[in-house]
Amino acid sequence: MCGVFGINGHDEAANIAYLGLHSLQHRGQESAGLVALDDKGDRLRRHVAMGLVSDAFGRDQLARLPGRAAIGHVRYSTAGSSELRNAQPFLFDYSGGSIAIAHNGNLVNAGALRTRLEASGSIFQTSSDTEVIVHLMAQSRDVDVIGKLRAALAQVEGAYSLTLLTNAGMLIGVRDPHGFRPLVIGKVKDAYVLSSETSSFDLIEAAFVREVEPGEIVIIEKGGLTSQRLRPEQAGPSTPTHFCVFEHVYFARPDGMLNGRSIYRSREKMGQRLAQEAPMDADVVIPVPDSGVPAAIGYAKESGIPFEMGLIRSHYVGRTFIEPQDSIRHFGVRLKLSPVRSVVDGKRIVVVDDSLVRGTTSRKIVKMLRDAGAREVHMRISAPPTTHPCFYGIDTPNRSELLAASHTLDEITRYITCDSLAYLSHDAMMASVGGAATGEGYCSACFTGTYPVPLGQTGDEAALVTLRRSRV
Ligand code: AMP
Repeated sequence: MCGVFGINGHDEAANIAYLGLHSLQHRGQESAGLVALDDKGDRLRRHVAMGLVSDAFGRDQLARLPGRAAIGHVRYSTAGSSELRNAQPFLFDYSGGSIAIAHNGNLVNAGALRTRLEASGSIFQTSSDTEVIVHLMAQSRDVDVIGKLRAALAQVEGAYSLTLLTNAGMLIGVRDPHGFRPLVIGKVKDAYVLSSETSSFDLIEAAFVREVEPGEIVIIEKGGLTSQRLRPEQAGPSTPTHFCVFEHVYFARPDGMLNGRSIYRSREKMGQRLAQEAPMDADVVIPVPDSGVPAAIGYAKESGIPFEMGLIRSHYVGRTFIEPQDSIRHFGVRLKLSPVRSVVDGKRIVVVDDSLVRGTTSRKIVKMLRDAGAREVHMRISAPPTTHPCFYGIDTPNRSELLAASHTLDEITRYITCDSLAYLSHDAMMASVGGAATGEGYCSACFTGTYPVPLGQTGDEAALVTLRRSRV
């Protein structure tokens, strides 16, 4: 998963974009980057580095990115390996000028397109699917940049929310016709901003304007903002959209609004519905922090059982933590979470987490709580069983590693060693995000296996699977 940002028309564009990326840090911690337009020389300047935003940028790097427009990216690789050459934004020159691009989402036919492009002479510099868009733009005979972009995007399938910046001062935002990944528009003073999430607007004191619509291209220049449809033939409300429900379940920050809804309220509602569907006689409701907190609050409110913080999360262990030796690897979850004995000792506990994927986290949490004296541990998951991998940008493992893909509820309960386990139903999850029970308007393929865009080629699936294996 990744986060993208863009700004045009602000004296401190790179500084604002840096702050914007900070508030998107949860969307990717592997690399961070900015490209800014130095308007004196009409030149795009780039700085990317591995690691967190605060590690990638200091005062010196930001000072070397002057100008009134910038785009940025934080990366968590789901296609392409984790290395500097894959860090975005990418910057490239073409006959008409230069352009930078930042991408959130996964293309499902990138492998096939890459094979075709390589056969016709393209040499790729990265293993990222985003570079395919760049080569397709370069091949287009269209002279203007929007024409090139349209020609490229007409050939790609899958999930993309993009920000682009040209050396002519054009900031472009695009969302694929399904609208898998978010992209929102804000305004700070006279400058327009684009961001993956609204939470960055609070930090930079920008006003929320609206979301970029699925299948929309927004162009932000000196004259203001204009909008076009990506595929005119698909315009209009009849085109089905598929916003990722997992953004509401886990991924997005709870202080934001997406798809017209508060993430916090969606999660709280999921917890309330979970308490209705899977009640339990218990002494205390505790969340798995941080992502399980709003759902646990909802569960506690609905059930009347007191909410307490029975697990404390260390904020100093990021995903960048490198586990050097087998002997300390199993400390992973304990490094991140530790039990509060005074809350759990002798108690019957409901533990609320947002998702159960491989089951390793839950299993360790149950043991940890029992070791701290818990009498009973009842796991409640505020989403349905994760049975299928995501091909649109969320980092889920292969099907073979998804516990719920091949195990019954009883088997999972035994594996996790909890006293009881229950998931939220698909209908209740959909109701919590304002969707129809049928799931209309959302993609919930990770819970149902119904993929709105099938994988283009078996080669693409193989590539994704190989990548996931290499990341385990
Ligand atoms: P697992 O141990 O594989 O069952 O992982 C479940 C935990 O990982 C839950 O606490 C989730 O909040 C969290 N989680 C779920 N999906 C993701 C994801 N795509 N990336 C990182 N963490 C996740």
